[in-house]
Amino acid sequence: MSLDKRCIVIGAGVAGAACARALVDRGWQVKLLDIAKDPCTAASGVPVGVVSCHASPDDNPLSQLTRAGLQATVAFARAHLIEGQDWSACGVLERRSADSNHTKKPWQETAQYSVWFSHVQLAKPAQLKEAGLSGEASNDLWQPQGAWIKPLALVRALLSSDDILFLGLYEVESMQQSQATGEWVLRIKHHIPIPGLGSSFTYTSESAPHVVLATGAQTPDFLNQVLYEPDMGLHPIAGQVSWGLQDASVSQRLPRFAVNGHGSFLAHVPTADGPAWYTGSTFDRHQSHLLASDEAHANNRQRLSELLPAVADTLTSQWNDPAQIRAWNGVRCASVNRLPKLGPLDEQRLPGLHMLSALGSRGLTLALLCAQAVADRIEGKPPALSDALLKAMQCELPAPDQ
Ligand SMILES: Cc1cc2nc3c(=O)[nH]c(=O)nc-3n(C[C@H](O)[C@H](O)[C@H](O)COP(=O)(O)OP(=O)(O)OC[C@H]3O[C@@H](n4cnc5c(N)ncnc54)[C@H](O)[C@@H]3O)c2cc1C
Repeated sequence: MSLDKRCIVIGAGVAGAACARALVDRGWQVKLLDIAKDPCTAASGVPVGVVSCHASPDDNPLSQLTRAGLQATVAFARAHLIEGQDWSACGVLERRSADSNHTKKPWQETAQYSVWFSHVQLAKPAQLKEAGLSGEASNDLWQPQGAWIKPLALVRALLSSDDILFLGLYEVESMQQSQATGEWVLRIKHHIPIPGLGSSFTYTSESAPHVVLATGAQTPDFLNQVLYEPDMGLHPIAGQVSWGLQDASVSQRLPRFAVNGHGSFLAHVPTADGPAWYTGSTFDRHQSHLLASDEAHANNRQRLSELLPAVADTLTSQWNDPAQIRAWNGVRCASVNRLPKLGPLDEQRLPGLHMLSALGSRGLTLALLCAQAVADRIEGKPPALSDALLKAMQCELPAPDQ
């Protein structure tokens, strides 16, 4: 029997958009639903983010995944986005010595046969100098393929296909599998804004044989309240990015590349009001608030002064004027082993139901690669990722009698 290639993806952040695109590129018809009116409004609404590898001398699963993920994201950006405006192949300086609480093993210069060869090198004195650091030998690394990217531009490009139908103000409130057709039937609550009176709602339904959950930080609630399943240890982490506009006097003293390590720093990012810098973000574990706070700005300022002391000095007068410091707040979804959760939820009990969630603080690096793995699995194709990696990311729901 040929595969019925209709799929509903729930959640229009970078994970849902990447899954939708991976499927339509293989000939599927996709409906992409979101509670919000527009795509890319929750965690994926972060104005700009770093795309980089997790460098580990023992090449742990997160390193393997981020290395492949970075290549997938950068390849898509090169083909579909405008460099300098939507993204920048600026390289990333990774400051391994900035966080005094977590001492990292020294990095040996990368040999030509190493998997890291084209990804990670010891930082050169000129790079350290550009970041306002002493330029002496350090344990800091240079990731030449690292980049910054604007998720809104990425999501818009992912969704630019006639075979993806985006349906906003669609909240999936419940779902069950039809015994007659085997399809998943989703009950949709439609939020209807009524100017001056708040909002009202109506209900409809949507159905398809395949469904992908890409519900970000709402995934634990979705599992509990819509599917009556345990949350698999997924949890929210709230965070605040601090940012400001650059005037010409500071621009020349800010590095042209991104800096990661103890928080991150990015500058020269074009916005409608001129170039801007971004730093952060904070990590409020098990919190899902979206409140901007001065305390979070102070936390980001403190970590910037440890990450890049000279840059923090350059921005002192801006930090001292609260009107010049802006905030962006969002909530990530994280798993216990810090890897995404992807693949079928439970092939026996919940056939046709798949997930891509828990992208943590690396959704921009990982979403496109992971979406291909989800699509491979839905189509029953041999996976491009290793069995060990897929096992580390698989969804683990207990059997019903447990
Ligand atoms: C402060 C901060 C800084 C970050 N910085 C970076 C960075 O520098 N680099 C990086 O790679 N990543 C970064 N991230 C992480 C990145 O933003 C996330 O990993 C990524 O956006 C997650 O995408 P997602 O699609 O899984 O979730 P989301 O973007 O949150 O999308 C989930 C969507 O599901 C929808 N939804 C939920 N429930 C339902 C329902 N019942 N019915 C319909 N729709 C539903 C929601 O409305 C939402 O739009 C940062 C995150 C934060 C919060």
